[in-house]
Amino acid sequence: MFDKRAYYHVYNKTEKGQAIQRSNYQRHRERRLAMAAVRRAAIMSDPERHAKQTAYYRKWRAANKDKCDKAHKRLNARLRDEALNAYGRKCKCCGESFAEFLSFDHVNGGGSRQRKTDRAMRSNIHRWLRDHNYPADFQLLCMNCNWAKGKYGRCPHQNTEENVA
Ligand SMILES: [Zn+2]
Ligand SMILES: [Zn+2]
Repeated sequence: MFDKRAYYHVYNKTEKGQAIQRSNYQRHRERRLAMAAVRRAAIMSDPERHAKQTAYYRKWRAANKDKCDKAHKRLNARLRDEALNAYGRKCKCCGESFAEFLSFDHVNGGGSRQRKTDRAMRSNIHRWLRDHNYPADFQLLCMNCNWAKGKYGRCPHQNTEENVA
């Protein structure tokens, strides 16, 4: 007998199968998200269901730790990449463009103060920036420029004659 489930289990992992799944996902994305939102609202308003769901997910995450870690890493890499794009992918001060050296800096130095008060920002700056539409009072600085700015209030790159005078 033809085992449909086993067939698709294999087929969905092929390149063609993955492409079909992706296009199906995109096609029904809006509707699925809307349905998920309705379901979530129903669960959130029912403490008993909510507790049950939370317990279930906690157990699931513990049993699928590798999968979760990988998914987290992928998501974080994407969020960081999007944030880097939004801020020009280079140090505002010296032009350093290796992404590994770049960090997000609050232009008026309010970063650390704000970070202490805003848990969402502290836990994931990249997500926070996206959720706040990449605010203009943030900029990209490389580690050198960022550190100098933090320690001396100004990066030595900016010690031009007009600044020093
Ligand atoms: Zn720099
Ligand atoms: Zn600099």
